[in-house]
Amino acid sequence: MSTVDTVNGPVALEAIGRTLTHEHIFTKNPEIEEGWPDPEWEGEDAMVAKAVDTLDELKTLGIETIIDLTVPGLGRSIPRIQRVAAATAVNIVVATGYYTFNALPTFFQTHGPGLMVDMDDPMPAMFIRDLTTGIGDTGVKAVMIKVATDEPGLTPGVERVMGAAATAHLETGATITTHTHAREFRGRDQQEFFRSRGVPLEHVLIGHSGDSTDLDYLRELMDNGSTLGMDRFGMVSMRSDSERVDTVVRLVELGYAEKLTLSHDAGVFSINTPPSFRRRESPDWNHAHISRDILPQLRERGVSDADIDQMMITNAARILVGAR
Ligand SMILES: [Zn+2]
Repeated sequence: MSTVDTVNGPVALEAIGRTLTHEHIFTKNPEIEEGWPDPEWEGEDAMVAKAVDTLDELKTLGIETIIDLTVPGLGRSIPRIQRVAAATAVNIVVATGYYTFNALPTFFQTHGPGLMVDMDDPMPAMFIRDLTTGIGDTGVKAVMIKVATDEPGLTPGVERVMGAAATAHLETGATITTHTHAREFRGRDQQEFFRSRGVPLEHVLIGHSGDSTDLDYLRELMDNGSTLGMDRFGMVSMRSDSERVDTVVRLVELGYAEKLTLSHDAGVFSINTPPSFRRRESPDWNHAHISRDILPQLRERGVSDADIDQMMITNAARILVGAR
């Protein structure tokens, strides 16, 4: 029987159910927050309780699993996520990787071949350990590998993360899932890079693709094998929901339901875009938005329940299994 490693342990693949494939719970910066606490972080217990309420509500809306792509660089803390997972029936799946658009922390600039602490690049082994042994001493295994390329493109720091991701994929089979700057067509750069490293593009999910409405670009990425993340519903600063819905409807009409996943890239707390900012700028940007508001619009536009299950259940299960 095939299983998926959730924060609470292995779950049968058949029980993974309707899944949000690119989300966050807590995006933090411990170093900044230790020195300069964010007044909107209401404390450990209150924020954990808030996350549990959020996920419990999702469960009533039919969501069984969320993939939390908060990797190092975004303040990943697995013990905190374990507290949430212990108190909700929604499965939480976590990721390894590193989130940067450009430079890496000094540790990576001093450790590696030809660097001050001359050694093999430690990064691939770090990712592989997360995927196979577990993260830190938590025993929680990462399931996905996350990388990011934004406007600056394949900077040396980003390229090093992507190289480590490729190595970790080839070793473990875990799916690589990405942040892209879709308007700069960064999905193309990612595919080109991973192809050159021998990663089958079927195992690369190009995230934030819903920020683009360029059907030729999106179809090219899918025709090359990748699954797309239509994963920022409610994030109106990048693209309106009506345009996002439109793109999904048109791609489903063109027969691409097998290559699409739906999600929000939302969070319970983010120090980068704090709750008050989100309430003001993008009030619908929350984890319940697809279930409540977007699925009815998709159905009204002719997307069938079978298509929705394909995108939210079958495709999600496929990316969770990867090449394992
Ligand atoms: Zn994200």
